[in-house]
Amino acid sequence: MSSEWNMPRRAEQCGRCGRTFEIGEPFHAYLYETDAGYARHDFCESCPPPAELAVLGSWRTRRPEPTVRKLQPFDREAIYGFFQRLEDAHEPGQVQFRFVLALLLWRKKVLKLEQTRDEPGGEVWEFTMPRTGSVHRVERPDLDEAQLERLSTQLEQLMAGQAGDVGLVAPDLNTEADHV
Ligand SMILES: [Zn+2]
Repeated sequence: MSSEWNMPRRAEQCGRCGRTFEIGEPFHAYLYETDAGYARHDFCESCPPPAELAVLGSWRTRRPEPTVRKLQPFDREAIYGFFQRLEDAHEPGQVQFRFVLALLLWRKKVLKLEQTRDEPGGEVWEFTMPRTGSVHRVERPDLDEAQLERLSTQLEQLMAGQAGDVGLVAPDLNTEADHV
């Protein structure tokens, strides 16, 4: 849906109560899967995220100083944490998310790709984490390279709080926070 790409700015308000976050105020960021890719929604600490949407991952962040234009550093721990928690995931959206997380961790040199294998269930990419020596088998979802690349870039931007540039908002969450 093209309208999903028109969200002007990243939300500086809670997606639930609409309250604007104070500078430096901690809040929770939640990542969702939508038809157009990944979407991020931020909620203040007292507002629970909508229960009707399945959360792919969440992390705690805070509203930066407005003058700081620099991106927040890539949060390896949070991303690796999501990745680890999805170790036994089988639901397609989670398998896809896990693969995209692996790509991102690989790009950031947290993971190292050892080999790819064709197995009866599909293609499996085997990564190691040099720091700990742990081995991770990651199912490759049935998406082409361009789609995976797009999701990976999108995820990185969302994690870094650049959601305004990606502009993804699920329409059903849009009603209260996104008044123009
Ligand atoms: Zn709120």
